[in-house]
Amino acid sequence: MFGGYQNPLIKKFLKSFVTKGHPEREDPVAQRMLGPEVHGLSPSNVSKGARQVVKSLVEAGYCADLVGGCVRDLLLEKRPKDFDVVTDASPEEVRQVFPRSRIVGRRFQIVHVRVGREVIEVSTYRAGNEGDGDREDAAKNKFGRILRDNVFGTRDQDVYRRDFTVNALYYDISTDTLVDYVGGLEDIQAGKLRFIGDPLTRINEDPVRMLRAVRFKAKLDLSLGSDLEDLCRDHAQLIRHVPPARLFDEVLKLFHSGHGVVTFWLLRDLGLFAELFPEAARSYGEADLSPKTGIVLKGLQNTDRRITQKKPVIAAFLFACLFWRAVRLQCDRHEGKRKNNPQILQRAAFDVLGRETQRVMIPRRVSTIVIEIWDMQSRLETRRPRMIEKLLEHRRFRAAYDFLLLRSEAGELDPQLADWWTDIQERDEPGRQKMIKELDAGGAPRKRRRRPRRPKSPDGNVR
Ligand code: ATP
Ligand code: MG
Repeated sequence: MFGGYQNPLIKKFLKSFVTKGHPEREDPVAQRMLGPEVHGLSPSNVSKGARQVVKSLVEAGYCADLVGGCVRDLLLEKRPKDFDVVTDASPEEVRQVFPRSRIVGRRFQIVHVRVGREVIEVSTYRAGNEGDGDREDAAKNKFGRILRDNVFGTRDQDVYRRDFTVNALYYDISTDTLVDYVGGLEDIQAGKLRFIGDPLTRINEDPVRMLRAVRFKAKLDLSLGSDLEDLCRDHAQLIRHVPPARLFDEVLKLFHSGHGVVTFWLLRDLGLFAELFPEAARSYGEADLSPKTGIVLKGLQNTDRRITQKKPVIAAFLFACLFWRAVRLQCDRHEGKRKNNPQILQRAAFDVLGRETQRVMIPRRVSTIVIEIWDMQSRLETRRPRMIEKLLEHRRFRAAYDFLLLRSEAGELDPQLADWWTDIQERDEPGRQKMIKELDAGGAPRKRRRRPRRPKSPDGNVR
């Protein structure tokens, strides 16, 4: 794809093609308009919906480009997840062009335009973050963190608010031109992830950018360079200033990218994992982190595999794997049999989730499922004959069974137990009944009869 770009004549041509740089930069990088012989893209690589949106905006008299991850991924010959369009039309003006659209977001307003089954995100050029001096830019607090980013601007301002050079390429399909202000194409070619501007300022403005760096390195195999890695290590604690709800979204993007294992090691190496999940990070021993015996790594491998196979994944399974050791450690503080008491496990589950949720907000709809997965483990282990059918029909059976398999692979359980549950799912009805009967005969524990409770008087005292 970059055949033309390797050509020294073209390189020279590119270097000489200097038009406009950022007014505040000591070393302004030229805006470069690159034709198809250099960028190698084709509008036909772009989804029909995005092409339609650009066409309509241009026909209405606005500028419109593709930008960000979709341009980067096309240049890397990867299939973009989605196509983002950026324009000089305001969100209201975009809405007028597309009757089937709606404005979303408060901190950062964008328009969702529906074209057939596609939803294209259209945003308006924003003014940059690196103070232009004569204008109030995006609002920042005293630590330099961005609070609002809704000041509209032009394309050559918009580029400087973007995080990495590889994410700041504009593809104007109406003229088949790639617009590169910051050397993003060279960085893509060299496989480098580089911040636009001073890395520490950019991290301070928005510490999530460290997580984004990890995500792009893991997903696209781009190198961060040792300086940036050191910077992340030294400033990992800035993650604490990010709203927990935003971190939840980022964590899911990180671990549901299909590269969870690589992501995990990178986050740990940069000290970011311990900032996101302090208690889980402290709980891991050597065995937990081994690909052979570790439930964390086994869980991440399993998720990566499912994503590659385009099978569905659920957030709760991820957290069940990440926090299991911390929960077990809390249970193990109890003596003898109480360690495995379901109530002790539930208490530990609530405690661990409660503490970890302070950094990364795990919504209740997710944490409830995490607890159900853990809670079902003891019932799957005990195999009370009368409970088997109920368990098989339980809405969390699949997730709990998958978790049991992981525990078995990690050496926490007798593999025969996991095999038994695999087996019974494959049997027809008479086969199932036979297996349950065999359990009964084998003396599997029956549920202990509870002594009837003494009724309480309305004032709550035992009568
Ligand atoms: P993905 O393929 O994962 O969607 P992406 O780069 O498109 O990657 P998005 O979150 O969709 O990521 O963001 C779109 C673009 O918006 C980015 O490419 C980048 O230019 C800009 N952007 C997003 N988040 C930030 C941020 N925190 N700081 C600066 N720029 C950002
Ligand atoms: Mg994107």
